[in-house]
Amino acid sequence: MARKIVAGNWKMNMLADDGQQLIQEIVKGAAEVDCELIVCPAAPFLQSFSMLKGNVKIGAQNVSAFDNGAYTGEWSAAMLKSIAVNYAIVGHSERRSLFGETDDQVNAKVHKLLADGIKPIVCCGETLEQREEKLEKEVVKLQLVKALDGLTEESLENIVVAYEPVWAIGTGVTASAEQAQEMHAFIRSTLVKLFGDRATEIPLLYGGSCKPANAKELFACEDIDGGLIGGASLKSESFLAIAQSF
Ligand code: 13P
Repeated sequence: MARKIVAGNWKMNMLADDGQQLIQEIVKGAAEVDCELIVCPAAPFLQSFSMLKGNVKIGAQNVSAFDNGAYTGEWSAAMLKSIAVNYAIVGHSERRSLFGETDDQVNAKVHKLLADGIKPIVCCGETLEQREEKLEKEVVKLQLVKALDGLTEESLENIVVAYEPVWAIGTGVTASAEQAQEMHAFIRSTLVKLFGDRATEIPLLYGGSCKPANAKELFACEDIDGGLIGGASLKSESFLAIAQSF
């Protein structure tokens, strides 16, 4: 069985003082929850948060596909490791659509992270147009096959997958529990076909307008192991309430 995780993707929100307060509230509340908590702040705050984190894990929102050198504005997996960051989100739809991140880059980032002992949270998900054309499974499968290409069986325990339908991100429209479960079951079976039974231990997180009001129903689904939370992760009450929804 996959472990339960609730991760907050703060995106480009929060300044230093508000962020410090929020992480401290989350660290305090973590004692009351029965799942792994991950907080992914903007890059400037990773180091200070990593010193405050207690039982909460810290994740970056991105990482370079390169090792080191003349890549202005980038940061490497080794740098994240050197400040005790535990996770990094890769392939988020905002990175794909706004910054042109390709499947090949996502794959390279996954390998760099694993090589430095950081766990990738690999995002996948279809657009509204793709769902309307009934292409959602094909799209998600291709994203996963490419993102996870070349992975060894041993590395599976360090992978997390997040299904985030693009049409549900920041829109207030959540996938119904049925829609989410159907895709998660499909993702689970795709991963098992690719990597064998050990892939059943990969946590599958749902993301897209997840909030305290719908988390219980989503997390009750057999193949949903938790959530990747955007807007509702910016307040400790809603983030912790979601984490208490298993
Ligand atoms: P929202 O929860 O704001 O819809 O964002 C989801 C997301 O993109 C998390 O990575």
